[in-house]
Amino acid sequence: MARHGRRSGIIGGAAVAVASLGVAGYLTFGQSGATSEAHAGPTEQAKPAPVDPSIVHASDRPGKSLNITIDDGPDPVWTPKVLATLKKYDVKATFCMIGPQAAAHPDLVKQVAAAGHKLCDHTISHNTGMDHRPETYQSQQIVDAQQMIEKAADGPRVDYYRAPGGAFTPYSRTLAAEHGMRPLGWNVDSKDFERPGTDAIVRTVRRELRNGPTVLFHDGGGDRSQTVAALDRLLPWMKQQGYGFGFPKR
Ligand SMILES: [Zn+2]
Repeated sequence: MARHGRRSGIIGGAAVAVASLGVAGYLTFGQSGATSEAHAGPTEQAKPAPVDPSIVHASDRPGKSLNITIDDGPDPVWTPKVLATLKKYDVKATFCMIGPQAAAHPDLVKQVAAAGHKLCDHTISHNTGMDHRPETYQSQQIVDAQQMIEKAADGPRVDYYRAPGGAFTPYSRTLAAEHGMRPLGWNVDSKDFERPGTDAIVRTVRRELRNGPTVLFHDGGGDRSQTVAALDRLLPWMKQQGYGFGFPKR
């Protein structure tokens, strides 16, 4: 018999006593119940630790820092261009992905994670009115998208949840947190989604950067050439201003 062994057995589905010899040499007995190895399935073991359910804007990086966030992808045309621009300036970002798009482009999800960027759940349908829908709907939108993104990523976790259009509810924030995803807000909307022109995007971000560290861009939902061009001007400018780049706090 092993000196410091842990033994357990299952007889007819019922757990039996676990005996172990403690460091002091005493023989101790404990009941092996739901935590029995025979009962712990892979999904139970893989469950992430819950996080703070409040909406985060702060950066995990000390000092003068920004969190670049990229929403509504992945997109086979624009995500690679955004990735290339981030790489050009050695900047890490957080990608808020739509579940079915992640499932359709698992290679892109893997590329994003492999480059050191973080993953964020941006629901199944991008319904900006989901805060007025039943909890079962919200749950399906959030949990199913997380599963799709994590399946595509094949290893890396989804660390954040961003409601489309900021349509959070107390329920959805708590649910996301229970699934290991910190609700993620933003301080600066680049307005790139409206395609106002590269100059306008650059001006908006420069002007509103004092609002806080988390900046919102998009790599999906249409032609994002202005976003790519704006990032190519903003990232070196931000560095010149003394900013570093981090991730939203967990
Ligand atoms: Zn969005």
